[in-house]
Amino acid sequence: MEKRFSSLTQIRQQLSEAKLTLPELVDYYLSRIEVYRHLNAFLEVFEQEAREAAAVIGKKISEGRAGKLAGMVIAIKDNIVYKGHASTASSKILQGFESLFSATVVERLLAEDVIIIGRTNCDEFAMGASNENSAYGPVLNALDESRVPGGSSGGSAVAVQADMCLAALGSDTGGSIRQPAAFTGLYGMYPTYGVVSRWGLIAFASSFDQIGPFTSSVSDMALLLSIITGADEHDATMYQRPALQMEINTEQKPLRIAYIKDCLEHEGLDPQIRSATETLISKLEQKGHEVKGIGFPYLDNMVPCYQVLTTAEASSNLSRFSGLTYGYRSAAATDLESTFKKSRTEGFGTEVKRRIMLGTFVLSSDYYDAYYTKAQKIRQLIRSKTLDIFKDFDVILTPTTSTPAFKIGEKSSNPVAMYLADLFTVQANLAGIPALSFPYATHPENGLPIGMQLMGNSFSEAMLLNLAQSIAE
Ligand code: GLN
Repeated sequence: MEKRFSSLTQIRQQLSEAKLTLPELVDYYLSRIEVYRHLNAFLEVFEQEAREAAAVIGKKISEGRAGKLAGMVIAIKDNIVYKGHASTASSKILQGFESLFSATVVERLLAEDVIIIGRTNCDEFAMGASNENSAYGPVLNALDESRVPGGSSGGSAVAVQADMCLAALGSDTGGSIRQPAAFTGLYGMYPTYGVVSRWGLIAFASSFDQIGPFTSSVSDMALLLSIITGADEHDATMYQRPALQMEINTEQKPLRIAYIKDCLEHEGLDPQIRSATETLISKLEQKGHEVKGIGFPYLDNMVPCYQVLTTAEASSNLSRFSGLTYGYRSAAATDLESTFKKSRTEGFGTEVKRRIMLGTFVLSSDYYDAYYTKAQKIRQLIRSKTLDIFKDFDVILTPTTSTPAFKIGEKSSNPVAMYLADLFTVQANLAGIPALSFPYATHPENGLPIGMQLMGNSFSEAMLLNLAQSIAE
């Protein structure tokens, strides 16, 4: 879709030439939000606050003391908390909840003068691949409103796709940034596990979850990552490393790139996505990279392994929603036990309940070894086999998804079909390595975007972005 601005550089240029003011920019995005309200991307728009921030930051720019993100208007997924604002993870169970603190990522962005324009719709507790599991209704793909935008960060994707803000934050546990980025024609990054603080991210599966950006340009992605990454004392699972250095070079040195043959040969892969991948492979060869097909015979084990482990973690993480301390409490509750039971029964949606039950089952003493322990071993195997690839290659290439954006309702009654939407994306989360989805082509039959995925070794985000940039040139 046409956008007025696709990078902060363009906005800063216009601001500096006095062709644009920050209040005008905020008005522009607010008017787009109004026009596209029916897409249901936003759960709340911080209209007044955004206008006030525009005045303050606009003044800072003219006085030459503005932060690195001055001029950037972003949206945040509804599972990232922001002090004094509601956060519901698109669930009824968090109805009325307002956070007493801000996520580390929010604080870091605000410190650089970002403007947060609102919070975006998503699948409930980030569980889903179509944004149809939100308690606040589905989000529509702006390119074809009969189709899903992907999930779970569908609202963040559509907010950027339809030019309602310049960039957005999402979270990715098994593909929730990359798959919607592919379905809406954007850049979306799952950063190395442990480089972005999870403090203030409402947990789904803690050993997989990372926050990451959606952008329309490589430069904005690099800039946002350079600000949101880096150790944080509130998150003990982080690497003790400073923020990632995100230099984008126009000079591209030859890389060794592996593509996974099992992905390209997969029966579920759309033929047009297969041929787009093949075109990309020849393009990369022409650019002087060494590209080779490799076998990775674990493809069909990855989604089941992911489901066992993430549901186990979710069942434990979501036990805190009891109806007692915060969020929704059933009006029909009469004692402690009925408060738990009724609040959770009424507060959680179907998919969340399915996952809590599955997770509780795989953790139960009779089945723990058969499912949970086994899945942990498979995760270790997938991680080590993935890292082995990086002994010989710099990058792994796959399509981001096996199909383009599907129709609303197409998979919603078949959870297994929906889970397979994550076929190519869960590998990065299982291995904890960075993965970028970038817009590569347009599907010749339906005009929908096709996204490609680049995975690299830990901390290789800048290299992945450099490669994506050189492909776009
Ligand atoms: N679609 C995947 C799932 O349903 C991924 C979700 C996510 O990354 N948050 O679990």
